[in-house]
Amino acid sequence: MRAVPVVIGVRTSSAAPVAATKAATGPLVDTHGRVHRDLRISLTDRCSLRCTYCMPEQGNEWLARTSILSTDEIVEVAEVAASLGIRTFRLTGGEPLLRADIVEVVRRIARIEGAEGPVEVAMTTNGISLAAKLPQLIDAGLTRLNISIDTINRQRFADLTRRDRLDDVFEGIAAAAASELRPLKLNAVAMRGVNDDELVDLVSFAMDVGAELRFIEQMPLDAGHTWDRATMVTREEILAKLGERWQLEPVPGRGGAPAEKWRLDGGPHEVGVIASVTAPFCGACDRLRLTADGQLRNCLFSMAEYDLTALLRGGGSVPGQRAGDIAALLRSCVLGKLPGHAIDDPSFLQPARGMNAIGG
Ligand code: SAM
Ligand code: SF4
Repeated sequence: MRAVPVVIGVRTSSAAPVAATKAATGPLVDTHGRVHRDLRISLTDRCSLRCTYCMPEQGNEWLARTSILSTDEIVEVAEVAASLGIRTFRLTGGEPLLRADIVEVVRRIARIEGAEGPVEVAMTTNGISLAAKLPQLIDAGLTRLNISIDTINRQRFADLTRRDRLDDVFEGIAAAAASELRPLKLNAVAMRGVNDDELVDLVSFAMDVGAELRFIEQMPLDAGHTWDRATMVTREEILAKLGERWQLEPVPGRGGAPAEKWRLDGGPHEVGVIASVTAPFCGACDRLRLTADGQLRNCLFSMAEYDLTALLRGGGSVPGQRAGDIAALLRSCVLGKLPGHAIDDPSFLQPARGMNAIGG
């Protein structure tokens, strides 16, 4: 079932609406001058784990299978997005590796020639079943991988993800470490009383496998709406804990990257922190999102969605005009982007969709 009101080119916020027909040439620039280069495509809302900060154990309202975009539909949107300057397509979910035709999706997107040359195909995954699929994914054109691992303790992993599958994740990480994909990034959400005593161990683990650990501040995106600002582990706390073990030196040149980076003991190892709550990077955000059921979003925390499915399936577009209509909707979505998400503001409202249904 759809979780929020769906609109075609009209914002649900109080700001002035933007017409979907407001198409123009050139890159996807919003009203704050941010040029959009990154499209995150959620391939499914389903997952092999049930991380407490992302999904409830039971009672998920899954997207109807018929509403999930086909590979042809995803590629059609990706081609238009690439023609408007999108350079990186990050495949996510839910768990993207659950998609039966994942190799085909990677292959077809990797073939797209963007406005400024070949595009990059990246993936964020929980690592389960990665070992078996990685050679085919690399052959298909996958260029970058982020693997999520919040703990290296088996019992904790089972409690946190409600599935006893840490060995499968280790296997996926080992396969990625042995591959040519670099940089290899490991993501960990820092959580009080869950893994905040393990931050140094997680960084050491990443170093041992030749990866870079990036800690993520927990965001209010859990489907159970249990997030609590008062108990979340902040960037400052993460840095303080790491600072007890290593000398931390800020790495300059962050650009539009969500993670701030620190060099450990003079290098070469580095650690990243994505402080979406206490130090948001909205001012440099260059991302758009496409949900598995064909809704464009300009922010994780957006209350509005821009309905591509109506164009792709509903006769909302006439033959010969579809690419132009998709482009106009992408542009409209970008123009509707607010300057920031305001999680720390008392008036903040959590979007109805959980992280697994938006695409992290
Ligand atoms: N299943 C894949 C995975 O876990 O890597 C891809 C989808 S997951 C939604 C993408 C990323 O979002 C993961 O690194 C996960 O830890 C992160 N994430 C999920 N819920 C979050 C939350 N409430 N706050 C911060 N990060 C979250
Ligand atoms: Fe699944 Fe990723 Fe959400 Fe964990 S964070 S439940 S692995 S989608």
